[in-house]
Amino acid sequence: METHTRVCVIGGGVVGCSVLYHLTKLGWSDVMLLERSELTSGSTWHAAGGFHTLNGDTNMAALQGYTIGLYKELEEITGMSCGLHHVGGITLADTPERFDMLKAERAKHRYMGLHTEILGPSEIKEMAELVNTDGILGGLYDPLDGHLDPSGTTHAYARAAKMGGATIQTHTKVTATTPNPDGTWTVETDQGTVIAEHVVNAGGLWAREVAAMAGIYLPLLPMAHQYIVTDDIPAIYERGTEFPHVIDPGGESYLRQEGRGLCIGFYEKPCEPWSVDGTPWDFGHELLNDQFEKIEDSIAFAYRRFPVLETAGVKSVIHGPFTFAPDGNPLVGPVPGLRNYWSACAVMAGFSQGGGVGLALAQWMIEGETERDPRAMDVARFGKWTTPGYTVPKVIENYQNRFSVSYPNEELPAARPFRTTMMYDIWSDMGAVFGQTYGLEVVNYFALPGEPRYETPSFRRSNAWEAVRAEVMAVRNGVGLNELQNFGKFRVTGPRARAWLDRIMAGRIPGPGRLALTPMLAPSGKLMGDFTVSCLGEAEFQLTASYGAQDQHLRWFETHLEDGVSVDNISDSRTGFQIAGPKARDVLAACTRADVSGTALSFLDVRPMTIGMAQCLVQRVSYTGDLGYEIYCSPSEHRHLFHTLWAAGQAHGIRPFGMRAMMSLRLDKFFGAWSREYSQDYTAAETGLDRFIQFAKPTAFIGRQAAEAERAAGPARRLCAFAVEATEADVVAYEPISLAGEVVGFCTSGGYAHYTDTSVALGFLPSDQIADGVTASIEILGQHCTARLLTTPLFDPDGTRMRG
Ligand SMILES: Cc1cc2nc3c(=O)[nH]c(=O)nc-3n(C[C@H](O)[C@H](O)[C@H](O)COP(=O)(O)OP(=O)(O)OC[C@H]3O[C@@H](n4cnc5c(N)ncnc54)[C@H](O)[C@@H]3O)c2cc1C
Repeated sequence: METHTRVCVIGGGVVGCSVLYHLTKLGWSDVMLLERSELTSGSTWHAAGGFHTLNGDTNMAALQGYTIGLYKELEEITGMSCGLHHVGGITLADTPERFDMLKAERAKHRYMGLHTEILGPSEIKEMAELVNTDGILGGLYDPLDGHLDPSGTTHAYARAAKMGGATIQTHTKVTATTPNPDGTWTVETDQGTVIAEHVVNAGGLWAREVAAMAGIYLPLLPMAHQYIVTDDIPAIYERGTEFPHVIDPGGESYLRQEGRGLCIGFYEKPCEPWSVDGTPWDFGHELLNDQFEKIEDSIAFAYRRFPVLETAGVKSVIHGPFTFAPDGNPLVGPVPGLRNYWSACAVMAGFSQGGGVGLALAQWMIEGETERDPRAMDVARFGKWTTPGYTVPKVIENYQNRFSVSYPNEELPAARPFRTTMMYDIWSDMGAVFGQTYGLEVVNYFALPGEPRYETPSFRRSNAWEAVRAEVMAVRNGVGLNELQNFGKFRVTGPRARAWLDRIMAGRIPGPGRLALTPMLAPSGKLMGDFTVSCLGEAEFQLTASYGAQDQHLRWFETHLEDGVSVDNISDSRTGFQIAGPKARDVLAACTRADVSGTALSFLDVRPMTIGMAQCLVQRVSYTGDLGYEIYCSPSEHRHLFHTLWAAGQAHGIRPFGMRAMMSLRLDKFFGAWSREYSQDYTAAETGLDRFIQFAKPTAFIGRQAAEAERAAGPARRLCAFAVEATEADVVAYEPISLAGEVVGFCTSGGYAHYTDTSVALGFLPSDQIADGVTASIEILGQHCTARLLTTPLFDPDGTRMRG
């Protein structure tokens, strides 16, 4: 056994083999894979082998497209067969909501270059005559859907990796992983010890156990899953061509041809987790006992949708476990808090996603960043607050919802409420309708008296419309109050703090008492963050950014940390409120003896201040684009601060507002949001954040070269704002934007700007097609809506209100 390696991949399922192959493909050949048994000895061997591109997250859909395209390449490189059947697939819609979802997906595919197609019932019948189309409104056809041979494909990855120089050692069980001071890992096995520069956990069913060897918990859980293979069916084997895949979300089933019969699997509601407390090491090539009672209802439904099944005999039943993360997406990337330890776990659709996961991880390890924004699958999207207690109900919910309609405004109920702020009961008493961000209950809006405390999930404008409108109007016409808990916050201190920030951030680092907005760039120039930096003293700074991205940001900071600087995550230990609107100054003045006049506390100032009895930090800035203040305090003084502001606000009609109103208010000013307009998919110049880059500073800040090159050449696309002639549904994200009938861009977000009564969309157009007076078309749920390019903010265009 080798004693040193650059990378030790633990686990020889489809994912581990794909990671190994992609490492060699990108140039690292001194890499090895350790497998405790034979390759495919986890979930992989009993998979149904189906693959498809459909995924609500655009980057995951693209990753799945890459995976599917890769199989031909693997066959060519290795001369081995992956047993490919590119038969195409139809996803059925039996309700208007489901059809809306498919239409929204089709619209996204237009700019992604995927050739999917919306079909009517008769076209479905023509393609898949065994489907009973009663009650079916239509479907989405994807020519790329198909299936393969799971074992053959995994061995093809392995062969390709070996051809690139990798070593694979089977019958070698990893028993311990220990970090060394130099960043390497000691990997102990039952066959000897290896020193590895990097460790990849691709342990699949045993990923939890492998993670525990490194002292960490990864939020994933195996679920037991069944599919049935039928005896030969004449209507199938007498067909001239192979039967297409058919997903019937209403019946929670997927069906395809298997040999001369059919194979049908179910995501049943009475599902069961498997081995909640850990996967036994002696589990291997056995299957679980059949459990027909779990899928009785699904089978009865399937008989109606596919009547041919009723008379078909059962040849075999495959019942096996595979792992899920709480949101169903993989857990990929550098594990926060550990050096050179990487996760490639919880890949629930290894044959749709394994290739893309392997590519992304290899890029991350070798190039330092991924080509596409990895956020949807980044292992850091779950913080240290995740526990098995949280994971179990969330994974069950996810499994049950696998084929459910997924609405843009939906808030899933499992494992809630979990993390709450000191304001939770006060907000509840005021009628709050909560959402969840990073496990934390956050107010979406306050229900109007007599209205339900529940937002109806919809692709169209929801029942929250009037309530959100009232909150928006209260801010613009008086003053609104909103909790600040859901910002990611960091305290940066030390003699080298300023110099370090200058290198990490592309923008200007402000002087004491001032704050500045700045992008944080990757070496490629892509956006790693969009921060507010507040200088509290020469050696003390506060950074604020997205709450949900706090672990991703902290991981980036730690990767680039220097002596003389400390970074502390204070997201949950510093909280507060923002007050915004024309009366905000009056409210603040009534709560403090400090001078808060426009000259004493001007736009972008930051001051320590006593508010009521609480020692606070007050920043003169507001994401609402209005006159506003962010007021930070400690959690123990949070309620006092609320009562102080609330009492003072009564004279001015103060009203609480939630995230829905905030997202509407920012649209008046075309302010972008993290993970929508600003993400690792885009550069500063594309999004307009380059206006905050301080090119004049002498520092070699990260991403400088790329940003300068882009400044010289100009970005090929730019973020624009549009007024959309939409009537009942607004832009959500990724709707295609067309000019003269040709798709040229896509939306990043949108919604209804209540104050200015405009349906606003933000999205990218090619730079050379941006001109005053441009009118585009944006497809929303199959409707082509006229979209007028806007170049002036709809509210306070010269910033008088905001800066006054
Ligand atoms: C019934 C069923 C049907 C499915 N159908 C499909 C489908 O149609 N399409 C699809 O895309 N996916 C399907 N899946 C899911 C698919 O099987 C998984 O996504 C995939 O197998 C995950 O692969 P993996 O490599 O992550 O994990 P695994 O296959 O579990 O591989 C992990 C490997 O790591 C090894 N290992 C673990 N610990 C150690 C250690 N300490 N030392 C050394 N080696 C170790 C194990 O022996 C194992 O070989 C299905 C799953 C099931 C159960």
